[in-house]
Amino acid sequence: MIGAACSGSTGSPGGDTASPASSHPPVTSSTTTTSTTTTSSTTTSTTTLAPPAPPAFDRRGVLANGQTNGVVVTDTGWVLPVFGGIDGGWRVWTPCARVADVTHGRYVDTVDVVLDPGHGGPTEPGASAPDGTTEAELNLEIARRTAGALETMGYSVVLTRSDDVRVPIATRAEIARALHPKAFISIHLNAGTNARSATPGTELYYQLESPESRRLGGLIYVETTRVLAKHDIGWVSLTDAGAMSRPNRQGTDYYGVLRRPVPVVSVLAELAYISNRAEAELLSSSFVQNEVAAAIARGFDRWVNTDELGSGFTDDPIFRGYGPSGAGFTTDCTDPVLDRTP
Ligand SMILES: [Zn+2]
Repeated sequence: MIGAACSGSTGSPGGDTASPASSHPPVTSSTTTTSTTTTSSTTTSTTTLAPPAPPAFDRRGVLANGQTNGVVVTDTGWVLPVFGGIDGGWRVWTPCARVADVTHGRYVDTVDVVLDPGHGGPTEPGASAPDGTTEAELNLEIARRTAGALETMGYSVVLTRSDDVRVPIATRAEIARALHPKAFISIHLNAGTNARSATPGTELYYQLESPESRRLGGLIYVETTRVLAKHDIGWVSLTDAGAMSRPNRQGTDYYGVLRRPVPVVSVLAELAYISNRAEAELLSSSFVQNEVAAAIARGFDRWVNTDELGSGFTDDPIFRGYGPSGAGFTTDCTDPVLDRTP
């Protein structure tokens, strides 16, 4: 199904081109004073963040990206970009891209990597395997293991979701914007072709205007395809699989997970085809999930520590269309309980 790939979309045609908010609320200090209560695991933190500015919205009424600094990780595990400090807490961007206030959590001003397990929640499972396993489930498994591999290397990591929940693209991108990471890596599995191939059909999308995104994509492509190709299974692939970019009609990045996080260096990995039974079975193996996770982490580490350019670039990809993929909306989203009062 070319043109309706599994990942983040452009949203409504022409409706997603609003400029990001230009003014960040100034962070007066990244220092967090933490005191832990003895009666529960709740961490109460106060910060010296500046008060929030009024939130800015795009033409569709969705919060505009680029108006938060740092995140609060709540004791229930939610990662909430911060507009600013309020009395006893923070004004935050919720998972469903709304504005709320929370009083409990841990303020984090930056990390090395934001990992983005694609899709999630009952209304957005992504692609699926012949046995019904969803892309959202496997994306999360691989992302968790990638986080573990990166942390073992000494990198700090935040995931955009840690459960089977819906998190719109705008929120995933804002988590990246808020944390100013070295890179944002969105993890997906593909669907849409049955064409047999001797090698994996991995597609690694990089940002059109970013040589560093291209280099990261090329390095993750090299590492992930090397571990996948060791498995002699019936792969499927488009003829132009590789590291590539994909423009939208306006000439910017088609995928919201690449366009919205700018200036954060971002890549989108379509690791393999979950729609192909053999690949779905392979990727359901915890051993293979660990192999792929370690490969993503190695690709990132090579990007940080070398000037290597990566390889596997597809310079003239097949036209994959301009149509929306349907994942860019913020409606049909129910925010979780963000704040557990002790
Ligand atoms: Zn996907």
